[in-house]
Amino acid sequence: MREITHFIDGAAVSGTSGRFGDVFNPNTGEVQARVQLATAAEVDRAVRSALTAQRDWAQVNPQRRARVMFEFKRLIERDMDALAELLSSEHGKVIADSKGDIQRGLEVIEFACGIPHLLKGEYTEGAGPGIDIYSMRQPLGVAAGITPFNFPGMIPMWMFGIAIATGNSFILKPSEKDPSVPVKLAELMMEAGAPAGVLNVVHGDKVAVDAILDHPDIRAVSFVGSSDIAHYVYSRGTATGKRVQAMGGAKNHGVILPDADLDQAVKDIIGAAYGSAGERCMALPVVVPVGKATADAVRERVLGELESLKVGISTDPAAQYGPVVSQAHKQKISDYIQMGVDEGAELVVDGRGFSLQGYEQGFFIGPSLFDQVKPTMRTYQEEIFGPVLQIARVESFEEALHLPSSHQYGNGVAIFTRNGRAAREFAQQVNVGMVGINVPIPVPVAYHTFGGWKRSAFGDVNQHGLEGVRFYTKVKTVTARWPEGAVEDSAFVIPTMK
Ligand code: NAD
Repeated sequence: MREITHFIDGAAVSGTSGRFGDVFNPNTGEVQARVQLATAAEVDRAVRSALTAQRDWAQVNPQRRARVMFEFKRLIERDMDALAELLSSEHGKVIADSKGDIQRGLEVIEFACGIPHLLKGEYTEGAGPGIDIYSMRQPLGVAAGITPFNFPGMIPMWMFGIAIATGNSFILKPSEKDPSVPVKLAELMMEAGAPAGVLNVVHGDKVAVDAILDHPDIRAVSFVGSSDIAHYVYSRGTATGKRVQAMGGAKNHGVILPDADLDQAVKDIIGAAYGSAGERCMALPVVVPVGKATADAVRERVLGELESLKVGISTDPAAQYGPVVSQAHKQKISDYIQMGVDEGAELVVDGRGFSLQGYEQGFFIGPSLFDQVKPTMRTYQEEIFGPVLQIARVESFEEALHLPSSHQYGNGVAIFTRNGRAAREFAQQVNVGMVGINVPIPVPVAYHTFGGWKRSAFGDVNQHGLEGVRFYTKVKTVTARWPEGAVEDSAFVIPTMK
């Protein structure tokens, strides 16, 4: 059986733990490879390689570092088809969606190509008599990233693209469920000209994560995954003095006002709710129509769309979504559907019985639709992370604003309306980090920043954009004067600008 090894110091490294994780083909349900799970000693080996590499890498001028990023971009574009196939084969998302996954990461690499400009500091001439002040952004040293299964291309690139461009070295601990694309990315980074050790990949589970969190030579940790683990990573990482950003789960709402273009809004919501089998932190699993007439019309249109929605294997170009990542995840989604029924929500479409001929052991689950979902229900409060759309009916704009604002998660939200004033008020007041106005998946482009609020993110600094540059650098401010002539007296009073 194929074995997926660590990638340390520019080469494949076999682990010694004797522990492995199964990597499935979600289309067939078969184990297609096993991934080594690292020990703390293997994490330490990666850190030592990264420490050595970083000393020289930080001295490479920003323009040369940018050239590595330009070349990395070219190589990914060269290998896009193969990367997307590999990604789909382990994750289960359809090929076109895997290309989107890689492309969104690539856009962060394009942003990182501008690093010479982004790293420019500030300068004040004559801040005092003969005194000039300037600031510079310096790399932290070794940074680490711990990533989820659902974007094995994009999320690692969110992190290491900026970390490496700013002069750090990086240790990536990808999801053990679909670990192959991250290794390929590291190989391509070496081919692009990054020195060995600048990007290491260590596979693993909690043992590797804890070793990263506790390692004294890792200065910053970026995490993306579920909220309980995000909170754990944030608490443990900051306790050992690290800079930590930890993005968590989500439950994004799509509010539909009565004046919205319902045909368009429903098309948008269907794609955002069921695309990638709902396994996106910016999926739109809750639709909030305002008023009975809107809700009834939305429900009817959703039902119409579901009739033609095609679920298929990840390589089927006609499929709109593929299998979920694992049997355990499929079971979890099925359990949530049963919980919704038991809680009293109306199960309008049940995807649990779905089976694909020839792929009966695959992790497929059909689209499900609930109506009459209430805020008191656990299935509303918790993240299902599957192809399940819930209709939560409300009577007023105020109620529609209140629902996402008071939810424990605050990643993304969307409003569908033709009323600019209502949209503006909603965007201004809603207690959520990323807002779409007639945009169902408001993931900001690479040169803006990505981050939710409440239990969707722990820490203060977002992913990518200028916030990403700030996360991976520390500011140094230099105050300089060049005295000449008579010696000045000692100053015992704090100097001021008075
Ligand atoms: P997960 O929390 O199970 O795993 C994320 C990472 O944490 C993996 O690398 C995993 O190996 C590690 N991990 C798992 N259990 C651990 C433990 N007990 N201790 C230490 N580390 C552990 O998440 P997942 O299932 O891979 O991904 C789906 C989740 O990620 C969803 O909740 C989704 O909303 C969230 N997500 C959030 C964002 C965002 O930006 N907010 C983006 C993508 C995904």
